[in-house]
Amino acid sequence: AAKSQGSQLWERYQPEMGKISQERADMERELRQTLADGGLQLHYQPQVLSTAEHTLYGVEALARWQHPEWGWVAPPRFIAAAEDAGLIHALTSWLIDAACTQLATWRAQGISVPHIAVNLSTNNFHDPEFAQRVYNSLQEHGLACNDLMLEITESVMLDSSPATLNNLKNLHAMGMRLSMDDFGTGYSSLSYLHRLPISELKLDKSFVHDVTTSSAASALTRSVLNIATSLGMTVVAEGVETPEQAAWLTEQGCPVLQGYLFAKPMPAQDLPPWLRKVTNHQLA
Ligand code: C2E
Ligand code: MG
Ligand code: MG
Ligand code: MG
Repeated sequence: AAKSQGSQLWERYQPEMGKISQERADMERELRQTLADGGLQLHYQPQVLSTAEHTLYGVEALARWQHPEWGWVAPPRFIAAAEDAGLIHALTSWLIDAACTQLATWRAQGISVPHIAVNLSTNNFHDPEFAQRVYNSLQEHGLACNDLMLEITESVMLDSSPATLNNLKNLHAMGMRLSMDDFGTGYSSLSYLHRLPISELKLDKSFVHDVTTSSAASALTRSVLNIATSLGMTVVAEGVETPEQAAWLTEQGCPVLQGYLFAKPMPAQDLPPWLRKVTNHQLA
């Protein structure tokens, strides 16, 4: 009886699963095509110092894909598809090259952007040549290692494969800086932070969202700030949307803020006018 029930369930779900795998196959095909055609774009979101002048600390590059029929595809969806299809290496190569090109262009125009942060996937670290590839891209554009900030997630820290450990070691030896993204959502183990060369910690937006309304979120944020500061790491609060959140984080000594309160991710050409506005102290 259990078996026939099982097969009934299977028949009921099969069309649904077929639909999902068809969607995935479509997405992979289109993504492969768009990578070949140069159809992806980068938007940039400013990160500002929490001081009154809100000086620019850096910008985060965020991938954007506008499909001719589907419209804008959410990054977590196409990033996951790229990972599944083995396209993440090509996507990250494009991303790093595009970010380096943009930074070199801004600098040539006299626009001072301290660094660009790029998001990496755990799979990137499985490529034994990854660290060297990043280094080569920087060299090609005449940039230095601290011109990029490499955002990783906790899963990289939990991956003890030889390729991952080697890449981390090599990136550190080259002087590349690593940032721990989405801190507070995963295992949030503080134990690896002193073992591995992390120079920045990004407090996840789900914490930031609640700092002014939840005593648990504010207590956790305070202790993360304490630990990070004593380990010599910079903390970036992501998803700062209200003046109250910004004021609370500033008061607690959080050095860098990022979020819609200051600016949404924007096309590269919108950054210089935004910067002029900030310099004139017309911000929040
Ligand atoms: P993330 O790296 O944590 O990026 C922050 C996300 O929060 C971005 O979403 C950003 O647009 C959004 N955000 C920024 N400020 C605010 C705010 O004040 N409020 C709210 N509610 N959201 C805010 P986005 O661009 O949709 O990207 C989502 C995720 O997709 C990223 O999370 C990152 O993990 C991944 N991603 C994006 N671009 C790339 C990429 O080029 N490569 C890789 N591997 N992953 C990427
Ligand atoms: Mg990020
Ligand atoms: Mg991320
Ligand atoms: Mg994040």
